[in-house]
Amino acid sequence: MERRFACTVCGKCCQGWLPLTIADALIHAHRFPLAVLWSTVRQGSKAFTLTRKLGFAFDRKTALRITPLAYIPPTLSCPALDADNRCSIHAEKPLRCRIMPFSADREMADQDDLLIPRKDWLCDVSEVAPAVYRDGRISDDSDFLAERKAFQEQAPVMANYAESLLKRAPQLRVEIEKLAKRPAGGQMVLKFSTLLRKVPGADLSAFATRQSAALQEALSRLPPDAEADYRKNYADWLEEMTSLSKPHGEPL
Ligand code: SF4
Ligand code: SF4
Repeated sequence: MERRFACTVCGKCCQGWLPLTIADALIHAHRFPLAVLWSTVRQGSKAFTLTRKLGFAFDRKTALRITPLAYIPPTLSCPALDADNRCSIHAEKPLRCRIMPFSADREMADQDDLLIPRKDWLCDVSEVAPAVYRDGRISDDSDFLAERKAFQEQAPVMANYAESLLKRAPQLRVEIEKLAKRPAGGQMVLKFSTLLRKVPGADLSAFATRQSAALQEALSRLPPDAEADYRKNYADWLEEMTSLSKPHGEPL
């Protein structure tokens, strides 16, 4: 089985949530409003075993994929997308953008459906596009392997983060148990500060100053009278980041 794929620079995939490694989240903290996405993956799904290794083994039947996220509404483009639909930070763009449309949180043999363009995407999958995926192997897998390596290196941080937060917040465990019952899995967005303290060496105050700028910008980009959930989250997180950026500040 072979898949062909080429980007025509339509910019359509540069919209909405963008999954990041922890390192990319910290690098781009001045640019992206950040959150953490917890997704349940059920036993029996193709990604279950890998998710237990890279994320958190919640119980025997449920694994948690934990993903830092550029938390952007699905109706809005990435703040780094320019007016010509080109990435304005091409040389320093996050790993996920480099391996697009592949994703290293799935096995390499389980990428086939990612090469089918979503609605409105103008990717070239015709016979003239290069063959990028054949018999479960990515032709040029260097960026895929780089993202997988980053996931492996951050796995102990993610496991420690999930374990300690679930201990501190028993209600969270109840919510995850509810989400885990959904056949296709469930998702929950948490504020980035829940993860920040568990990242070794993170400079909380410097991070908060940079993230405050991104949240202010994100608030200004929201259309009036729309995206109320995003507006509320950005405003709450901005208040917290402003507090954290001061000497002796603490997450709210
Ligand atoms: S960083 Fe660049 S490539 Fe990635 S989503 Fe934003 S505009 Fe697109
Ligand atoms: S949707 Fe496809 S063609 Fe458009 S920018 Fe993304 S990868 Fe390129």
